[in-house]
Amino acid sequence: MQQQMMAGVMQPATTCDNHSVEIAANIASVAEAEAAFNNGAEGIGLFRTEMSFMDRETPPDYRELADLYGQVMALAEGRPVIFRTFDIGGDKPVDYLDTGEEENPFLGFRAVRTYPRYRDLFAMQLRAILSASALGEAKIMIPMIASVDEVIWCREVLEEVKSAMRDQALPFNGAISLGVMLEIPSVLFAISEIAEYADFFSVGSNDLTQYFFAADRGNSQVESVYDNYAPSFLRALKFAVDEVHRAGKWIGICGELGASSDFLPLLVGMGFDELSMSGTAIPGVKHTLRELDFTKCQRLVQEIVSVKRSAGVKSALRSPEVRAI
Ligand code: PEP
Ligand code: MG
Repeated sequence: MQQQMMAGVMQPATTCDNHSVEIAANIASVAEAEAAFNNGAEGIGLFRTEMSFMDRETPPDYRELADLYGQVMALAEGRPVIFRTFDIGGDKPVDYLDTGEEENPFLGFRAVRTYPRYRDLFAMQLRAILSASALGEAKIMIPMIASVDEVIWCREVLEEVKSAMRDQALPFNGAISLGVMLEIPSVLFAISEIAEYADFFSVGSNDLTQYFFAADRGNSQVESVYDNYAPSFLRALKFAVDEVHRAGKWIGICGELGASSDFLPLLVGMGFDELSMSGTAIPGVKHTLRELDFTKCQRLVQEIVSVKRSAGVKSALRSPEVRAI
C-alpha cells in the first residue's frame, strides 16, 4: 500500500471521472517545502511565514526574508506558493511588538489587526514576497480577515510597495494575487464585496471552527463543541464554496480538515479548488482522490447537508457505502 501510494505521488490529483483538485502543502520552513514537493505537492497552499518572526528579540530584516522566500520559490519550480503574511500577536506574542496584555488573545490583537500599527514591518514582508514573485508563482494571503475594509487597506499598502519597487526598477510580478483566509465567520457574509478586492479565498478550518462555535481550538474541555461533523458547519463550508465561485474566484482549504479521510469526498464534492495539508498527508490523499467519483461526491454533499445531527453525519461519512465512493 505504502509503495503504491508513493508510486503515484507525482501523478496529477484527479478523480476517476477526471475532476482535478490541486493538492498542496502547508509548510513553515525550506525543509518542509522540500519534503512536500518530494511527496507530490502541486504547490504550497499555506506558507506559515510567522515562524521567522517568532522566538527572537528583533524582527527579521528584508534580506533574511527575501533569501528564505527565494529558496522556497526555487524548490517550487513554477508551482504556486501562497505566502501567508505574519499571523502573530494574540496567542503568539513576540517581544519586539507591543501587543499588550489581553484577556482574550484569540479574540484580540493578532495577524492583520496588528498591521496598521506595524505597517513598516508588513510592508517589508510584502516587499520580500514581491521580490520572490520574480522567481515564479508567488501569491499573498492575509490571515484573520474580518471585513472588506481590512482587505482594501492591505491592497493599498501592497500598491504602495509595488510603486516603490517600480521606482527602483526592481523585478516583481505586478499582477501578483492577493487572497484572504476565510477563518472568521463574518467573511462568509461578505464574500461578494471582498471578492472585489481579493483574488482568492482559503478556508482556515482550524480557526473557522473555533470562531464558528466559540470553542477554543486547543481546549480539550470544549472538544465536543468544536465539531467539524456538525451539519451547520458543513453547510457553512458549502455556502462559502458556492459564494466564492459565484463571485468567479478560487477557493482552497488549508486547515486540518483538508487532510481528513472522513471529509475528503465531501470537500471534493463541495467543489474546493485546492486542498492544502501537511506534506506527509499528500501521498495518501492523492491516492484516495484518484479512486473517488466526483459526481458521487457531489451527491453525497446534497445528502449530508440535509442530515440534522452531527452523529448522523459522522456515521454516514464512515459508512461502507461512502467509503466505496
Ligand atoms: C487555520 O486556522 O485553519 C489555519 C490554517 O491557520 P493556523 O492553523 O496557522 O491558525
Ligand atoms: Mg488560522
